[in-house]
Amino acid sequence: MDHMLNRRTFLKTSAASLPLAAAIPTLNPGTISTETIADRAIPGTAPKLIPLPARLAPVEPSTLPWPQNVRRVGQSNMTEHDPAVMNIEEWADYWHSASADIVFISVTGILAFYPSKVPFHRHGKFLNGRDFFGECVAAARKRGMRVVARMSPDLNWGDARDAHPEWAMRDANGSVLLSGEDPRLFRTCMFTSYMDDYVPAIMREINSLYDVDCFYTNGWPPIGSLPSCHCAVCSKLPPSNTAAYWRAFNDRVLELWQKYDAIAKEKKPDSFYFANLGGNVRCGPNLDRLAKTAVWFQADNQGRTSDDPAVWGCSLQGRVCSAVMDGKFAANVSAAYSTGTVRWRNASKNPAEARMWLNETLASGMALYYHFIGSEAGLGEDRRWQKVGSDYFQWAKKHDAHLKPRRSLANVGVVMGQSTQLLYPPPAAAHARDYMRETTHGIYATLLHGRFTFDFVHEDRLDLERISKYRALLLPNIAVLSNRQCQQIRDYVRSGGSIMASFETSLYDENLQRRQEFGLADLLGISKAGDVIGTNGNAYYGRMERTHPILDGFRNTSWLPGAQNRAPIQPVQDPVLTVVPGFVQYPPELAYPPASHTDEPAVVLREAGGSRLAYFPGDIERTFWLTGHDDLLRLLHNTIRWVTQDEALVHIDGDGLLELFVWETTPGYAIHLLNYTNPNAHHGWLSTVYPLAPQTIRMTLPGGVNVKAVDLLRSGKTIPFRLEGSELRFTIPRVDDYEVAALTVS
Ligand SMILES: [Zn+2]
Repeated sequence: MDHMLNRRTFLKTSAASLPLAAAIPTLNPGTISTETIADRAIPGTAPKLIPLPARLAPVEPSTLPWPQNVRRVGQSNMTEHDPAVMNIEEWADYWHSASADIVFISVTGILAFYPSKVPFHRHGKFLNGRDFFGECVAAARKRGMRVVARMSPDLNWGDARDAHPEWAMRDANGSVLLSGEDPRLFRTCMFTSYMDDYVPAIMREINSLYDVDCFYTNGWPPIGSLPSCHCAVCSKLPPSNTAAYWRAFNDRVLELWQKYDAIAKEKKPDSFYFANLGGNVRCGPNLDRLAKTAVWFQADNQGRTSDDPAVWGCSLQGRVCSAVMDGKFAANVSAAYSTGTVRWRNASKNPAEARMWLNETLASGMALYYHFIGSEAGLGEDRRWQKVGSDYFQWAKKHDAHLKPRRSLANVGVVMGQSTQLLYPPPAAAHARDYMRETTHGIYATLLHGRFTFDFVHEDRLDLERISKYRALLLPNIAVLSNRQCQQIRDYVRSGGSIMASFETSLYDENLQRRQEFGLADLLGISKAGDVIGTNGNAYYGRMERTHPILDGFRNTSWLPGAQNRAPIQPVQDPVLTVVPGFVQYPPELAYPPASHTDEPAVVLREAGGSRLAYFPGDIERTFWLTGHDDLLRLLHNTIRWVTQDEALVHIDGDGLLELFVWETTPGYAIHLLNYTNPNAHHGWLSTVYPLAPQTIRMTLPGGVNVKAVDLLRSGKTIPFRLEGSELRFTIPRVDDYEVAALTVS
């Protein structure tokens, strides 16, 4: 490869990795000097490789509960019209030929797909007394597929409301809340007898008539937000969006979940109940509590929207599932239909986008789940999605052993802060569409660009046994932390762990009460010096006061960009960066700092034993997401490398924006590379794949482990490798949208 080609490749990949696609035209190779390009690259040498931990003891798959051996889930989501048009044999043949282990079949609760006798379980208008559900169950069973009985308890009709006005959700004026799209349907309240009586009656009717493997409710619990209802029951609860309401909500979700689970088991002890989840870090129910009960995490995370445009939306969800499920089953519902703010539920989406979502599902450790809606004309007027899904499923089936993860290998833990995500009030001046989502994408993008291996860590799972494997914990504005959680973080640091935290981390307790002082003030060496300061035109800067590894690579400037908002803190000894306060951006006559030099810290760094602690008073991760400014990225990378003592479990050398997962598997290890180097990484859907040039991987295996083969599962090639002592090195010659380097060891 000649020099010019190198440079072009670099420019293409670095432009595609910026959050704003609008930045692309400004990158003209002719106007960027070699020196500038060198400055844009991530500085420093390769990290120190830390050996992978000793391998887990083998587990015989037949000893696992059956859901843990499910690898492929199929769903043709049934419409009221399907009993008139769907070809059941064709439906069952399609999913069977695609190697689906289990299929969803609709019972529902809004419309019965069988001759239900449960009052208010209205028969679909094309059912005509037919047992459509039963016929589908029989067709699936005949082909050896398991069956999920799918219900939907979230909506019902006017006759049910007239007989049971207490079932309805109500607004503050007492009016019934209706479906936003079809006002013939009202929204049912989860705190009422609708959930205690009506849903169990349907479950028991199904158990009495059919042989199903488990039960599922769609449409409940809510995804990504908490309900707001003023019915007779709910008006006695604390106000929605308070910590007290969230506890009552979680209690009710668990009560119903366990009740339905017990009903599922009345017929078969290995049956179970599960419900709709998703919303990644902003899930409705508390995931620490729920995951102790759930055996199936249904991640309803079907595709990107213009509100949440990052290409890694599915693998982000997978990391959330890994954080709470402890190896139990999780599946990501991937829409084959066109998802998004503008959507077409009966039209196929771009194949490249659909495949990337499936890639991310596998890479992040979840099981494949492919979903289309409606079977007009037998099995869809648009059938283009079918080959995309069956080809993918059949490929994956050949590699089940390598694709099924046992544990994630990562040395950075990112605290996900579910209560902060749901309840935290962002700074009033932030002009955020979704403040904490922007924060999450900021740290996520940072870690991907730096090719770090990381896991999410739930705030209620900070016990030392879980988190001691991480060299560092990152707390990107984890504002809500209880005293106990703060103590767990102190214990982690005392045991040698490192921290990078930002902005209002630990400023609120678990009841959302604002503390007088940061909960982690002692640990981080900081002290609050006033209320949050936002940006009026031109954001603040950090002045470089002295050399430090976190400032490596910054030349020819004494100022660095700060962040949009900051929580001012008291001066510290020997600061590395100090705040140059913000000012107006217009008129330019006034665009200069009121004070060029202050003693307010823009970062606080501490070292204690083997631990390193870094605190940024600014919302730096989120500001990186909003701006794409390389200086913020470099500062964050340098800081993560500093707090981790520049240790890594795997090092991948090569160009491009990719997401990396390293899993221990039963045969060995699987290194997953997702290629996001694409103009549609942050907007719209992928339509074309831009392959990556060679990527060289280095990792240190545990003592006594030998490599028998390195197979590339997507390209179907076996590649050479070098094992010197315990250090393994191999090169993947090309990555299209996705590659899995599967190591077989002995
Ligand atoms: Zn209610």
